[in-house]
Amino acid sequence: MPKPTKVDLHNHTVLCNHAEGELHLYIKEAISQGITIYGVSDHAPMDFDPKYRMSFEQMNEYKSMVRFVQEKYKDKIEVLFAYEVDYLPGHMDKRVLDADVDYLIGSAHFIDKWGFDNPEFIGKYEGANIDTIWQEYFDLIKDMAETRYFDIVGHLDLIKVFKYIPKGDIVEIAEEALQAIKNADMVLELNVAGYRKPCSEPYPSRALLERAFQMGIPITFSSDAHKPEQVGLFRDEIESFAKEVGYTQCAYFKKRKRFMVDF
Ligand SMILES: [Zn+2]
Ligand SMILES: [Zn+2]
Repeated sequence: MPKPTKVDLHNHTVLCNHAEGELHLYIKEAISQGITIYGVSDHAPMDFDPKYRMSFEQMNEYKSMVRFVQEKYKDKIEVLFAYEVDYLPGHMDKRVLDADVDYLIGSAHFIDKWGFDNPEFIGKYEGANIDTIWQEYFDLIKDMAETRYFDIVGHLDLIKVFKYIPKGDIVEIAEEALQAIKNADMVLELNVAGYRKPCSEPYPSRALLERAFQMGIPITFSSDAHKPEQVGLFRDEIESFAKEVGYTQCAYFKKRKRFMVDF
């Protein structure tokens, strides 16, 4: 029996300044968790909020780090090279968008310039209209999909991180964003980082994943590890979640080309 394909496409390195542990420890953990395709997708450089990401000068270092483990562990695991790119209009950079990667994850961590998932700025939710904030967030995801810069949508409903939940119907709020994701032929990641956060559930929620499934939007899996011991956590939970919704296949990318495999 061949080993089942286990894909994990969103993981960080120390270069982003808020992750810990040597890259080879992440890879070893992935191997011991039975992951067969492991993506390194660290936070791409950007001329905004530089302290939470690598610098443009570190892009070559990042590439060589990943190439080194790709070669060293190639008999045990396939390592892919990618970036998680912050979608922030006016701050997109060709050096990242045109980089020679396997794939790009597009994520929104800022509404205008507000880092809404950063506990330092949580005060902004108090007294704000949560429905409006959610709509602004999903409008941004729609714009991001329409740029067609990215292959994967990072943590689709990150806006729920601190459990500020709108009164309105979430699927309705996200509907146009999902339609744009479908039109752009992007993949949604099932990201388990939400289990480690106040929202204590994966991204996206069941209601959004069910809508994505109806629309025929493909998925992939992500640990979003910022420490080696986070690689492969909640794997059984997230696979069962995807199966309950109806998914049987997940995606990975090589040189921006998509492949689908059973999980
Ligand atoms: Zn991070
Ligand atoms: Zn992210």
